[in-house]
Amino acid sequence: MCSSSTHHRSEPVAVDIDDAAEASAAPSTELIEELVAANQILFDQGVVDAFGHISVRHDKRPDRFLLARNMAPSRVTAQDIVEFTLDGEAVNANGRKVYLERFIHSEIYRARPDVVSVVHSHSHSIVPLSVVKGMRLKAIFHMAGFVGQGAPVFEIREAGGDATDLLISNNMLGEALARHFDGHDIVLMRGHGSTVVGGSIKQAVYRAVYAELNARYQLQAMQLGEVTFLTEEESRTCVQNVEGQIQRPWDMWLEQARVRRG
Ligand SMILES: [Zn+2]
Repeated sequence: MCSSSTHHRSEPVAVDIDDAAEASAAPSTELIEELVAANQILFDQGVVDAFGHISVRHDKRPDRFLLARNMAPSRVTAQDIVEFTLDGEAVNANGRKVYLERFIHSEIYRARPDVVSVVHSHSHSIVPLSVVKGMRLKAIFHMAGFVGQGAPVFEIREAGGDATDLLISNNMLGEALARHFDGHDIVLMRGHGSTVVGGSIKQAVYRAVYAELNARYQLQAMQLGEVTFLTEEESRTCVQNVEGQIQRPWDMWLEQARVRRG
């Protein structure tokens, strides 16, 4: 579960907050449309289900970001996109409930000025690799070079003690998670899921889809025997050469997601 309320125990997946500041100049229509498309793709590709979210840095204000209100990603429309500050405060929620785990996004944008988009999910093959001692998600095939030589695992107990709900529900936990992105574009979260970052919405979506596939292949290969992973150099070359092609899967995934939606 990704969201919960600090105010209403009867509504554990959402939180009410007051708007903290004035909304800034409207983001471009194209950016909003791409963010909506990304929500549909991530659901159709099985990266998110009712939980999980994608955000993008505001294209007119780098100290703001855009994220849907609290809802299932597959149902997100342009009217559901809310603007947030880097403190995780909504500026135009107008009373709509927002994701409790928005601090994942706010603190990564603060820590990594190069990041334009963030995907947080609980995709199915990632979770097992987050809970086995000594195990790391590693790049196993050419589409996932960005995974590198071992994705860090965020242990929430180190920042929040051993009785949390594992959710990144405040700035302090978000900041502790964001520190793990120093030199990495994917971080696993123990017993929870993962977060990936990219220099664009399309790159973040691509990485979220292929991180899940990499995890699945790694789990399968480990059952067969000793696994050969990509070298650091192979990982780097694959990122340079393969990620230049992200438009191709994006077009296909979007078409497929919209055909299935009907
Ligand atoms: Zn979550």
